[in-house]
Amino acid sequence: AQILKSGWTGANECTFIAVKPDGVQRKLVGEIVRRFERRGFKLVGLKLVKASENLLREHYWDLRTKPFFSGLIMYMSSGPVIAMVWQGSDVVKTVRKMLGETNPADSLPGTIRGDYCVEVGRNVIHGSDSVESAQKEIALWFGQSELQRWEQSSSRWI
Ligand code: UDP
Ligand code: MG
Repeated sequence: AQILKSGWTGANECTFIAVKPDGVQRKLVGEIVRRFERRGFKLVGLKLVKASENLLREHYWDLRTKPFFSGLIMYMSSGPVIAMVWQGSDVVKTVRKMLGETNPADSLPGTIRGDYCVEVGRNVIHGSDSVESAQKEIALWFGQSELQRWEQSSSRWI
């Protein structure tokens, strides 16, 4: 699979999404996956993982000086997460819109955070904030052999 090495633009753009431990505990996985499927994006990787604190510290490296950092690492390592890679045109930006704002209180109804949570420290889902972050996060969470190249039969209708 050359998903990481080539074609990071247009229809081949990829993003990293994780259903956080609270989303898994609250049985929101199916509902969340359904939204990205229905939108027309292509699932190229998915796994249930208990993330190590080391992986999470790397994942949230940019936030390491924030007061909520250690609580964030505890929250994210408190149970399994669903780690996913989704592909499609403008998938990074579109997924961020579908998530809503970082703080659920600022998230509009219709967004995932606006529909399913109330606390910033329990905001059920992660999505990469840029194409560059997506590249780093996908490489951190997935091996090449875990990413599938496949033709979705519906592609000409989407
Ligand atoms: N977070 C928090 N308190 C804050 C800001 C962020 O607990 O005041 C958590 C929250 O779970 C958020 C994560 O840290 O999703 C990463 O923060 P970021 O600013 O990157 O927000 P995101 O990209 O997830 O919207
Ligand atoms: Mg972020």
